[in-house]
Amino acid sequence: LYVDQPLGAGQAVAVGPEQATYLFAVMRLPVGAAVLLFNGRDGEWLARVVDAGKRRGALLCEAQTKALQLPPDLWLLFSPVRKERTHFIVEKAVELGVARLVPVTTRFTQSERWRQDKHLAHAIEAAEQCGATFVPEVGEVQPLERVVADWPADRALLWADEALAGRSGVGAIPVGGPAAILVGPEGGFSDEEKARLRGLPFVRPISLGPRILRAETAAVAALVLWQAAAGD
Ligand code: SAM
Repeated sequence: LYVDQPLGAGQAVAVGPEQATYLFAVMRLPVGAAVLLFNGRDGEWLARVVDAGKRRGALLCEAQTKALQLPPDLWLLFSPVRKERTHFIVEKAVELGVARLVPVTTRFTQSERWRQDKHLAHAIEAAEQCGATFVPEVGEVQPLERVVADWPADRALLWADEALAGRSGVGAIPVGGPAAILVGPEGGFSDEEKARLRGLPFVRPISLGPRILRAETAAVAALVLWQAAAGD
């Protein structure tokens, strides 16, 4: 269970109305029951229910069950697509391990409906479900142009370039050092965007194989290929 409170031996954790309903009404956890907690910073902790009220309660941390395991220093830049597909991208990115989700708008971005709070909640849910002890940073949507204008010079930007799809199989994924993967919208990148990306010194085009993948498939494929090459 995710809580945005410090965790440590003997630390009391307050339970608010929403989590009280889930823990004590839905799950029917009595006083003394064990709950695993994480906050994205202090690893995973075994806690016991010490107060199980209707609208609130309290837990007490006993022992750490997992140390904090940080994800690889990898960002995912992607263009929000339809609601449930964006949800899919967020969920899979957490499962596969990214440090930061960077939603970007491009010329052909069809959906700019990016709800940072909602997608952060999806990221937390995904972390809970896959046993991650971290929660990636979930950024506000911003134009790709602005993101690349302010890019850290030491971070490679691995651009999933659909132009490579027809020509080659899956290429080698350059790993080593901070990196980010960039996946375009359903409509791909415009000619101007492609020219701009080609001119940037930190950009490395990568191929995801001979067929054109949907944006959400491309995000998953790129993350898996990166993971296979980097080993984490
Ligand atoms: N409408 C575009 C076209 O026909 O060229 C296809 C865009 S594709 C559905 C969405 C994004 O997935 C692309 O912008 C690209 O980043 C990525 N992508 C899909 N297939 C790819 C491949 N085989 N290699 C590299 N990137 C790919």
